[in-house]
Amino acid sequence: MTNDPSIAFQVKALDENRPNGKEPVLGGKLRSKAVWVDESLCIGCTYCSCVATNTFVMEKVNGRARAIRQDGDKTDLIQEAIDTCPVNCIEWVRFEDLQELRIKLASKPIRPLGLPPLR
Ligand code: SF4
Repeated sequence: MTNDPSIAFQVKALDENRPNGKEPVLGGKLRSKAVWVDESLCIGCTYCSCVATNTFVMEKVNGRARAIRQDGDKTDLIQEAIDTCPVNCIEWVRFEDLQELRIKLASKPIRPLGLPPLR
């Protein structure tokens, strides 16, 4: 049996114009959800930043974790980082909700944890 190359022109193309939640602006091919740290609850243990090193960093002023990018690590690794959090302050959220979460966080009083500066 031989493959007929003309079959490639008979297959219906996917509807690329329909939103599917994986558009580049929403995170691209990696995932359709964003990761968010509620810094007001973070206790600065650094676990998440040691697991998903391309996603979480310890913010220098208050010593709390922050997700600095959404495409830095595989989803499984980010989930592992989420699972290590002792206070459950990391969660998956919709990309569209990130801006509102940032605004809400900015309105909360967040005190420095008083930890020594990170190397
Ligand atoms: S694991 Fe949780 S508590 Fe620890 S630094 Fe990360 S966000 Fe903060």
